[in-house]
Amino acid sequence: MGRILPFKCMQTHNATDLLEIIKQQLCEQTNRPKYELLIKPLNAVSFDDNLLVIAAANEMNRNWVQDQFGDIIVELVELITGKRAELRIVTGRAVPDGSPAGPEQDREGFGLDILPSPAEQDDIPLRQAAKPLLNSRYTFNEFVVGANNQFCYSACWQISQRPGQSYNPMFLYGGVGLGKTHLMHAIGHEVWNKQRASNVVYVSSEKFTNDFIEHVRTGKRMSEFHRRYRQADVLLIDDIQFLCGKSETQSEFFHTFTALVEAGKQIIISSDRPPRTLKGMEERLISHFSMGLVADIADPSLETRVAILRQKARQENVNLPDEVCYFIADRVTSNIRELEGALVRLLAFSDFSSSPPTIEFAARVLADILDTSGIRREVSIRQIISAVCDYFNISDSLLLSPNRSKRVAQARMIVMYFAREFTNLTLSQIGSELGNRDHSTVSHGASKITAEIVEDPYIEQAVSQISRMLK
Ligand code: ADP
Ligand code: MG
Repeated sequence: MGRILPFKCMQTHNATDLLEIIKQQLCEQTNRPKYELLIKPLNAVSFDDNLLVIAAANEMNRNWVQDQFGDIIVELVELITGKRAELRIVTGRAVPDGSPAGPEQDREGFGLDILPSPAEQDDIPLRQAAKPLLNSRYTFNEFVVGANNQFCYSACWQISQRPGQSYNPMFLYGGVGLGKTHLMHAIGHEVWNKQRASNVVYVSSEKFTNDFIEHVRTGKRMSEFHRRYRQADVLLIDDIQFLCGKSETQSEFFHTFTALVEAGKQIIISSDRPPRTLKGMEERLISHFSMGLVADIADPSLETRVAILRQKARQENVNLPDEVCYFIADRVTSNIRELEGALVRLLAFSDFSSSPPTIEFAARVLADILDTSGIRREVSIRQIISAVCDYFNISDSLLLSPNRSKRVAQARMIVMYFAREFTNLTLSQIGSELGNRDHSTVSHGASKITAEIVEDPYIEQAVSQISRMLK
């Protein structure tokens, strides 16, 4: 039973540990009074099915935390668990789940490199304490190299050996779940392991944006913001497509970018599409993105997918028959996160029911993952938008616009529903694809459609018709 640690940790007694790590992070990212007032009183309630439930002291505390930290908390949970996550903040006196923090062993289950506690930090040199927040599983060692990612992998490896001296910047792009974040973290680990004094900064573009807005809004000194990013030796900025349409943040990022490059520091940028197709991105940034090395990760071949499954099974000390590897790899074709998810689920079920992971068993326990109502699981948000717009006979631009007429709003919520069901995008990513709407709007829209499918024949009809279009 002990072999699928990450899965079990997420399923069981981990909300308290998880919240503890999050509090530690937020403590570093916010000022003391805010931390004491808003974050410290939070209690963990549960963490199940990737839904983290935390309890705030009262309604006001809840609203503040939701507004100011909701996105960051979701992002941290996703970073820690490597899975899409949701957050619910309830009010009242909650019973925290499980006993507090045993266990380094449990904590490791999250795959996060735990930052030293303040007491531990006193014992180590200051520079060493600034360990970057990186997922400990995302290393070069654990990355399976195939024809689809060979070039990217080699470039990232070279950069990690001589940051700032080979390709600068590196622009890495590819579809969802293909290993971009993994490679960025791998560079971070490698640089930091070789040179503990290096200031490695990993940040999602969303966090960069939120940080920037927070500084502008609260009138905090920009010097603090500049110090955080412009003093990096290696800046890893993930999902840059999030900056599209955000001109002030782009301008700030442009200055961060030039300051770093001029100082000979390394920048690695990831994106879900190539620089030239980033609509709403300033020309000067696009041309800067292209001035170093641009490399893409393509969809993995069947052989690579099988190799990835074999490696993951090996890591779990499970002997997975080849035919089962092929069975899964044949059905999950373009998203490695989903491939991993299928394997973790198969192994968990096989473990819990003490049944060997045969093809028949896999077909049974993975039925809904591999073949949900016949829709291809790899459907992209672009395909969803296009099918929904066709069905409602509206243009893409109207769907993405602020227009709130009933039909357009319904169409938009149906996109949110399908994107939640059939892509691996996070709520925030879906929101950004849908004209920069925030994560709570997406969560609300998707839940509304889930409820209305049962109650409203018009919505039911629309959803089943669009499902057929997506097959
Ligand atoms: P992206 O950032 O491109 O959306 P991630 O880096 O988050 O994708 O990868 C999704 C999951 O798939 C992660 O758990 C990652 O470890 C795993 N993964 C992706 N590519 C590989 C690979 N080549 N070898 C091993 N694991 C991989
Ligand atoms: Mg990523």
